[in-house]
Amino acid sequence: MSSKGPIQEAPRSVTRVVSATVTREGGGFLVHRPFPTAELREFDPFLLLDEMGPVEYREGEAVGAPDHPHRGFETVTYLLEGAMQHRDSSGHQGKLQPGDVQWMTAGAGVIHSEMPDPAFTRTGGKAHGFQLWVNLPRKDKMIRPRYQELPSEKIPVAESPDGKVTVKVIAGESLGQKAVIETRTPIFFLHFWLLPGGKVSQTIPKEFNTFAYIISGEGVFGSEGRTATDHQMVLFAPDGHTIQFSQKGASILSVLLIGGVPLNEPVVRYGPFVMNTEQEIHQAIDDYRNGRMGFINP
Ligand code: MN
Repeated sequence: MSSKGPIQEAPRSVTRVVSATVTREGGGFLVHRPFPTAELREFDPFLLLDEMGPVEYREGEAVGAPDHPHRGFETVTYLLEGAMQHRDSSGHQGKLQPGDVQWMTAGAGVIHSEMPDPAFTRTGGKAHGFQLWVNLPRKDKMIRPRYQELPSEKIPVAESPDGKVTVKVIAGESLGQKAVIETRTPIFFLHFWLLPGGKVSQTIPKEFNTFAYIISGEGVFGSEGRTATDHQMVLFAPDGHTIQFSQKGASILSVLLIGGVPLNEPVVRYGPFVMNTEQEIHQAIDDYRNGRMGFINP
């Protein structure tokens, strides 16, 4: 439906369907994590996907991720419910409300905190969102940090002609809409909602590694029609220009479709640092310990 695709060809096939593991992160918040796991270390150029929650907090209970560093990649935070407050070592501050996106290029390094907004902590409520880690190519790992902060209303949304598919275009393009966010390497980050009977045929560059992550509902994916449901990740083979999927069952299918050009470079990761060599990891730890990534002023 998005596609003025030049060619009629078979849609991409599905190589695997992976179920998210449940774990705790930061100050102890619940995440569903399809990768990295022992089963799937990364999906080049993507290093991690965390579904934060969904979790219902009572008054005063909400937790986040206090001060920690990052170097060598980007973090993309997309909030669905709740409210977050972000602060970093260069004095940058921001708030995330439902539907907002923060695309942070950590580059050479930031120290930041990602906490629930104090007003949200007081009242409690439902928290739900995503964080994706996008690797940077060797030549960009030490660039200056950059933030792109997009309130929900500035993110383009498109609808299919039959009204059964809505897409929020966070990165890349879909159904004739182009994203506002600029990415270092070509990336698609699309959030689709499909009503009963909804079908998507999304054109994607042939070289992209692409996956879908089901937020809620049930869908049928790829050329062989693999069924997947909430907290599952569908990995597509790099065998075509088209990703196809359709809604199944009675409820709306809410799904992220994410793709990017693989970097094909060595990945050496140590917690929040992702570099190309062990030596660069030692350097990152040393820079962090010696305050060369800065501090957050209380
Ligand atoms: Mn972080």
